[in-house]
Amino acid sequence: MHYANKVYDQVVAANPGEPEFHQAVREVFDSIAPVLDAHPEYADQAILERLVEPERIIAFRVPWVDDAGKIRVNKGYRVQFNSALGPYKGGLRFHPTVYLGMLKFLGFEQIFKNALTRQHIGGAKGGANFDPKGKSDNEVMRFCQSFMTELQRHIGPDVDVPAGDIGVGGREIGYLFGQYRRIRDSFDAGVLTGKGLGFGGSLARTEATGYGAVYFADAMLAARGESLDGRTAVVSGSGNVALYAIAKAQQLGARVVTASDSSGMVYDDAGIDVELLRHIKEDLRGRVSDYAAQRPGARYQAGAKVWNLAELGIHADIAFPCATQNELNEVDARQLLNGGVRAVVEGANMPTTLEATHLLQENGVLFAPGKAANAGGVATSALEMQQNSARQSWGFEKVDAKLHDIMRDIHDTALDAAARYGHEGDYVVGANAAGFEMVAEAMIAQGVI
Ligand code: GLU
Repeated sequence: MHYANKVYDQVVAANPGEPEFHQAVREVFDSIAPVLDAHPEYADQAILERLVEPERIIAFRVPWVDDAGKIRVNKGYRVQFNSALGPYKGGLRFHPTVYLGMLKFLGFEQIFKNALTRQHIGGAKGGANFDPKGKSDNEVMRFCQSFMTELQRHIGPDVDVPAGDIGVGGREIGYLFGQYRRIRDSFDAGVLTGKGLGFGGSLARTEATGYGAVYFADAMLAARGESLDGRTAVVSGSGNVALYAIAKAQQLGARVVTASDSSGMVYDDAGIDVELLRHIKEDLRGRVSDYAAQRPGARYQAGAKVWNLAELGIHADIAFPCATQNELNEVDARQLLNGGVRAVVEGANMPTTLEATHLLQENGVLFAPGKAANAGGVATSALEMQQNSARQSWGFEKVDAKLHDIMRDIHDTALDAAARYGHEGDYVVGANAAGFEMVAEAMIAQGVI
């Protein structure tokens, strides 16, 4: 039995009830067989056995008081997965579906994604099964304060640097930072990223994940002598990643016709008015149905996904899943193929199921996996850390140019690794192999720890 399969079976047996974690491990292990064959020392050094076991997991109670005076309790976590390349780095997710297995999947992905950025950051993820939706600002503040009261013991600018993810944006990071500063009595700007611009945040961090995904798409098309100009794109989601993927794709000449949220999707033949969508989502904390209500010509479909191109009566060239894990399954992939899609670029983490990924790749679709294509967010977090260390604030153009360079480098690194291991043009193999090599080499150099 191949080394990777043996360790995968151990992972499934030792981590019951965590299907997303199993899937994330499977996806990486399926790609790295040629790397393991070329490096028998990785098995001797038990690299896979060590990689799949988080260095540390912190689980804690988060009690808080709601506006009615009722005491509520949530589960809080931080999974410090691997620090071979640098301080633990990765977002916090606040969503009712959060449980340990989900954060292990996200933390595992983060190890390789962060390696690909070459910014010397380890992999981590955290969060809580708290739903910020429908909560008042004061409730969110009290929750964040309680969450940080425990988390602050475990983080620091050179130890572990959390940031945002689903349900954690600028508002939450602000409250978390305030509580950290208060308890630690120290203005460690570099302890969190995604901060407000007035207290150590970086310009272009908000835009970075979405912009980065489009820069990756652009590099991928450019390698084939093509571009986004004049293309039709479908985007899922309407959060931070989706918004700025739409904005950048439109800047590069694409027509982006969809957005979605957990209630349904909106189709806008004239192209999404990104400023209106941003205003509704960020300023008003509204829904895509509100967008459709305010935008003449836009159509809202409750409960629908954006992938059914035949139902929308359109052909599209490129799809950007930017909402959440496993939002694009085999049926959806078939609909994209029938609708003419030739490239899929993951803005979210693991939005495409393994079966859908295989189907798309078998049919010649250019497939950009999230750990490469959405690395722009965490890469720009690392640029925020650099600015904090130097007590500097760089201009938007400077940060954006560095982000663009990093995304081009990730693209070239993945393409090169794919070719080296005999999988020309396969960005899944390339991204996993390249990220894995970097982490494995650092782990071996640092001994059995
Ligand atoms: N949550 C984002 C991700 O999935 C960003 C993490 C960060 O900036 O640390 O990569």
